[in-house]
Amino acid sequence: MSSTSKTKNKKRPGFLKTIKQGVGPMRKLLPYLRPYRRRFILGLALGGAFGATSGLLALVLQQVLALVPGGTASRTAILKHVSETNGPRIDSVIWLCAAIPLVMIVRSLFSYFNGVLLSQVGLKVISDIREHLFRHVMRQSLDYFHKNKSGDLISRVYNDPRMAQMALSTVSADLVTQPIAILSSVGVLIYLDWKFAIISLCVFPICLLPVIYFGKRVKKSGGNEEDSASGMMVILQESFAGIRVIKALAREVYQRKLFRETNLQQVRQSIGIQKTIQAVSPLVEVVAALGAGVTIFYVWFEGISAATFMAMLTCLFTLYDPVKKLSMIHMVIQRSLGGMTRIFQMLEEEPTVSDKPDAVAVTECRGAIRFENVSFAYRKDKKAVKNLSFEFEAGKYYALVGASGAGKSTILSLILRFYDPAKGRITLDGRDLRDVTQASLREHIGVVTQDTFLFHDTILNNIRYGRLDATDEEVTAAAKLAYANNFILEQAKGYDTVVGDKGCNISGGQQQRLAIARALLKNAPILLLDEATSALDSESEQMIQAALERLVQGRTVIAIAHRLSTILKADKILVMENGELVEVGSHQELLSESTVYRRLYNIQFNQAGEQPAELAMVD
Ligand code: ADP
Repeated sequence: MSSTSKTKNKKRPGFLKTIKQGVGPMRKLLPYLRPYRRRFILGLALGGAFGATSGLLALVLQQVLALVPGGTASRTAILKHVSETNGPRIDSVIWLCAAIPLVMIVRSLFSYFNGVLLSQVGLKVISDIREHLFRHVMRQSLDYFHKNKSGDLISRVYNDPRMAQMALSTVSADLVTQPIAILSSVGVLIYLDWKFAIISLCVFPICLLPVIYFGKRVKKSGGNEEDSASGMMVILQESFAGIRVIKALAREVYQRKLFRETNLQQVRQSIGIQKTIQAVSPLVEVVAALGAGVTIFYVWFEGISAATFMAMLTCLFTLYDPVKKLSMIHMVIQRSLGGMTRIFQMLEEEPTVSDKPDAVAVTECRGAIRFENVSFAYRKDKKAVKNLSFEFEAGKYYALVGASGAGKSTILSLILRFYDPAKGRITLDGRDLRDVTQASLREHIGVVTQDTFLFHDTILNNIRYGRLDATDEEVTAAAKLAYANNFILEQAKGYDTVVGDKGCNISGGQQQRLAIARALLKNAPILLLDEATSALDSESEQMIQAALERLVQGRTVIAIAHRLSTILKADKILVMENGELVEVGSHQELLSESTVYRRLYNIQFNQAGEQPAELAMVD
């Protein structure tokens, strides 16, 4: 949205400049067109053929009407006229009478197949671009999703390809069909009466004045309409994704107001556009009627036959539509240019973390992770972790403690290679993380975080997300190990209950157990754990602890600790302060030797156990 609003107030370029501007993005569309090129070219050719029939229609009309003396002759009069004037034979009369419907049939067929083929190609191209965009967005590193609002991303992937399609189907069709139609009509008009042709071609543009004037207004409102559509997507997406916060703070009315504003804004803009569009046709008709009056006077003055007059009028009528379309084409290009530019900009953005061309896949993994003098900053001005050197030995349990913002989550993100260190390196079993593929690295890491994301799918598939090729039996076995089997069976359809549907009641603690089941199923040698800060009832808590107990067995575990039990069982505790690793040791060692740890311990994990209120002061 931001990019469109930035360009909103700029002066829009004229016709030729727009066409020139469109060439670049249009050329980038070509690769998408390649698979459908035959259909596309055939569609364009049919459009050209349709254009060529415009003048033909007028000619045929003139020939046919020439048979009608005075324009009011009866059938016998025509036959008499034909025989007396050595005119066309009767079978040619039938042919000529059939000519108008025949030309119309051929013209309609051209138009139909031209429309069908080009929209088919356009729609297929849209779907290819959408797929490409989605694949590209999914390839991006995590920082990309922090920078871009998801509503905006949804709008980009869904709406912008539609704009590209417009450029492809409408513009390419019009650029071929309409000039041919104009040439054909003007050619016939000159052939019929060159003086009339010159006069009408001078007067004709007056008809276009309302189209051009109102077209400009449509263009302006069109851009604003797209902006507010994108704004609406952002509000919708945030309202649904952030529903817990909205409900918890009772901000439904506030969200409703936000939505109402963008909704009304869009309606206002659409109504403005409609008012303008609807005004065009009546105005054009009035101007055309005036033109018809002048034409009739000219016909009387010059003594032109009725047949030629009708043919000339037909030429003018068939001229109107192509000229109107061509005069609007730069508006269509302008509208689609915005979308296309955004698409190609998006496709040019490379992920900040990408696999090296010679990156190898991690196949065997012991789970030893080493930080060698690692520094990393999200923003230039502040380092999130500084000069971190530490070895996480395979199969051991590590707890990260420290105040909020100390850099604990950053360590987990760096291990997952969501980001690359600015300085230093991280190795897995001695191999630099930058030398291995991201996908294979993450296959060897299980993650259980505070908030479990469940997809709108069955519970079975939600657990299976941990390992897509797991059998149903393996999924149930993992659920049993995570103490999740019982509550799953209590759901309306057991494992087949769809999350979020009626009959699905899953508490926060149960969601955590589903996440543990997912991680158990994944069975990765490294486990990253971000413990929940919110207090659960003691039964849920016990279940989670018991499930985690099973999960951590035999793995390298790095846990952001919020529970006393976690720090007590950790082989080593890493104390973080302002991005630095300040102390390392077991709970007992640190308690007796360290002041920082003791202070932290007293605040976060004091003797009474986990106290959420005090925890909240720190986090
Ligand atoms: P912790 O997990 O210990 O609370 P984090 O690792 O989340 O700490 O944060 C370390 C520092 O990095 C903090 O100063 C925080 O503000 C900053 N930070 C964390 N995530 C981002 C982000 N996505 N963009 C910018 N700064 C961030």
